[in-house]
Amino acid sequence: MRLARLIYTSRPTSHFGISEMVDLLEKAQHSNQRNDITGMLAFSNTGFLQVLEGSSERVNALYHRIAIDPRHHQLSLIAFSEASEREFADWSMAALDVVGLDASRRAATLLQYGTSAVFDPFNMSASSALGLMVAWRTELATSSTSQSRTSAS
Ligand code: FAD
Repeated sequence: MRLARLIYTSRPTSHFGISEMVDLLEKAQHSNQRNDITGMLAFSNTGFLQVLEGSSERVNALYHRIAIDPRHHQLSLIAFSEASEREFADWSMAALDVVGLDASRRAATLLQYGTSAVFDPFNMSASSALGLMVAWRTELATSSTSQSRTSAS
């Protein structure tokens, strides 16, 4: 199997609410488990940033399904490349509500990997986007609250 990692960003449509988010995540996690896809989805009212890892064919096929999903728009592909190992091996789809993070820590992490303290991943490089998600994954894994940790594999 050729392991691939894909990163993209998009904007939620105006109809997207929290109950829709929960529904999306439950289905995505089950489907990803079946397809041996791992990753993480960070979301706010204005943006999604998602990392998908798995076989190149399956990740590619999933991205094509995601791209036509009417629940978001303005998709922008940040990276699609081979990977030597998974960064999110334990997560069928980790989910992070960016707005729920501590404000000062959120700003510090965003500034560490980008140029703005606001979550707007549209201008991020591939390495910055991955670095940000790995930092937040570590935060999710060590967090004692379940507020933003939606699910492991
Ligand atoms: P079906 O479930 O048969 O649906 C048919 C069509 O309706 C598809 O175009 C689908 O996108 C759309 N649709 C499905 N549910 C709704 C709804 N509630 N409201 C409006 N339209 C809907 N799927 C995964 O499997 N793994 C992921 O990691 C994943 N991440 C996602 C991240 C984001 C930000 C979004 C918006 C969606 C994500 N999805 C994910 C869902 C994905 O886009 C598909 O809906 C899902 O893979 C099912 O595809 P399907 O072809 O079987 O569609």
